Amino acid sequence: MLTEFSSGVDSPLIISSSNQSEPGSATWQQQLKAAVRSVPELLQRLDLTGHPIAGRADFEPQFPLRVPLSYVRRMTPGDPNDPLLLQVLPLTSERQPSAGFVDDPLQEQAHNPVPGLVHKYQGRALLITTQACAVHCRYCFRQHFPYAENRLTARQWQPALDYVRERPDIQEIILSGGDPLSLDNKALAELITALEQIPHLKTLRLHSRTPIVLPARIDAGLLDLLATTRLNTVLVLHANHARELNEELHPALAALRTTGTVLLNQTVLLKGINDQVDTLVDLSHALFGQGVLPYYLHVLDPVAGAAHFDTADEDARQLWQQMQAQLPGYLVPRLVREVPGDDHKRWINKA
Ligand code: SF4
Repeated sequence: MLTEFSSGVDSPLIISSSNQSEPGSATWQQQLKAAVRSVPELLQRLDLTGHPIAGRADFEPQFPLRVPLSYVRRMTPGDPNDPLLLQVLPLTSERQPSAGFVDDPLQEQAHNPVPGLVHKYQGRALLITTQACAVHCRYCFRQHFPYAENRLTARQWQPALDYVRERPDIQEIILSGGDPLSLDNKALAELITALEQIPHLKTLRLHSRTPIVLPARIDAGLLDLLATTRLNTVLVLHANHARELNEELHPALAALRTTGTVLLNQTVLLKGINDQVDTLVDLSHALFGQGVLPYYLHVLDPVAGAAHFDTADEDARQLWQQMQAQLPGYLVPRLVREVPGDDHKRWINKA
């Protein structure tokens, strides 16, 4: 289960707009502390307390609600179908079992040779750096992952680092979680320093939704880490809708570009959120406008509790073909599914 953040003292590069709960000088850690964690508070902030959607909301979900105020501010008050709200609002329907939707849809626990490391694909391995996230997404495929068994302090990373050191074919390390940018800069610096000492490692990739929901996380310390490591750096953002890319993100993403980090994005195709061609085309343009290339359009991993977001593969293919007709090739993400046992993500743009 995804849980709490570590604390840190880095100063913010980006200061969020005014909000009484978030003073202008708030660090990203302070902004996280102020995140909304209760369904009634979220509904109240969005003027939805008396709306029928309140009757469908789960007030005590097993996977708790968490959403930073920066992200809440991008939602439209009074709109129960807001595509940002629906990504974070727990519904009682999540509790109903659905055939084929399971706790570990990618069978990652079968590729977990040492605590904290998942090794599925040739040439790269994934480090589970933390169990924490800035936001809790209702479609998260790791919402049931046994983080308690994979929760590592800095010293406990050693077996995972040794595993990588003993395998010269691993050239790329992917920091994942939870969300790796929920680590503070001190912890990240320690980990990156240890990784840099493994000679065959060339590339450091981070997968993170934090910059999208909490732009203040892109602080001076993080930028310095990315700019100075000897490793190639790739940041794969997780944005699902153009409305997530508001003006609060502009300076954060512009600053990231100055570090030489390659910025990519992956999107999860979500029924009722972004399963319209106009929505996906707008997202590709919005990403490119901020220097980010669309990389993957993932169909949903069948995780328990997320069946209401599922789209049929045939519908996904039709959407992708319509995107291809409307966008230059470099703005068309790869339509993929992750299939347990495959040695790479499976392209599903053709039946
Ligand atoms: S940010 Fe990613 S890992 Fe965290 S809850 Fe959302 S989808 Fe899951």
